[in-house]
Amino acid sequence: MDSLAAVDWTAYQDEALAAIGSALSEAELDDARVKYLGRKSALAQALRGVRDRESGMLLNGVRSKLEEAVAAREAELARLAYELAAEAGVDVTIPGTPVTRGHLHLLTQIRREIEDIFLGMGYEVWDGNEVATVWENFDALTSDPGHPSRSQFDTFYIDQNTVLRTHTSPDQIRAMQTRKPPIYMVSPGRCYRRDTPDATHSPIFLQVECLAVDRGITLADLQGTVLKFFRALFGEEREVRMRTSFFPFTEPSVEFDVTCFICGGEGCATCKHSGWIEMGGAGWVDPDVFRNVGIDPDEYQGFAFGFGIERIAMLRHGLPDLRAFWENDLRVLGQF
Ligand SMILES: [Zn+2]
Repeated sequence: MDSLAAVDWTAYQDEALAAIGSALSEAELDDARVKYLGRKSALAQALRGVRDRESGMLLNGVRSKLEEAVAAREAELARLAYELAAEAGVDVTIPGTPVTRGHLHLLTQIRREIEDIFLGMGYEVWDGNEVATVWENFDALTSDPGHPSRSQFDTFYIDQNTVLRTHTSPDQIRAMQTRKPPIYMVSPGRCYRRDTPDATHSPIFLQVECLAVDRGITLADLQGTVLKFFRALFGEEREVRMRTSFFPFTEPSVEFDVTCFICGGEGCATCKHSGWIEMGGAGWVDPDVFRNVGIDPDEYQGFAFGFGIERIAMLRHGLPDLRAFWENDLRVLGQF
């Protein structure tokens, strides 16, 4: 920038020092700091464009002088405030009212715990977009064009071709489109469906989906991964069982249950006295899904499984109502 070469840095420094020295409040001091030292200041811009040692030293010299002046004026203002308060008869040595520190939301804590388990198994955590094309959210997953889940009564449409994702599967589609197998990824995140909020439904919810694509993967790998994951989450003594099911994007599809971690399988209210708790769905990636994203199904196989984070939080803490997570009632959230 040629115009900056013309700046008289001695004058710049004098002007800045005067502004800093005459600041009468923290706000005024901050204004001066932003104006002369901030990211958009002439000094910062010039520093970004420095090409030679000499001007680098000059500009850095100006910067440190100004930074020292800001720190000195800050201390001075603090001392002045202290003196004024003391004059007015305020005892500044009385301890202040303690401020309670916040902590991570329960769902964030569980989400991170889940991410850690997958990272430990060598998976990559994929932070995807909450907005997806209709193709990514439905078509690529071989969902039936007439399926009711596509309707505007079930899905939030942004325009004809764009939706708020109804599951995190669009992340997997994008991952498979943009990189070559082997792919071992997990995509946690918010999903949206047009549900009326009640104890077990919410228009916004958190889902986790795991996808593995590689050569020579078998159903035993799926079972082993699910088992390892739920043992890490709910304890080493857990068992997992699978029941056949149907999802459009996996073939075969299964739903999986975990032995109840409340009663240990004896039977209790949480597991409805069956000893098993339904956790989510899984399956073998349908060859048509692979074809849609340009992966050869004769060469690669893969599995996917998914479940809800709220459900895990509710089961683990015996929470009866999903709405508690989104209502931001600190009396509830503060307990976790
Ligand atoms: Zn039980």
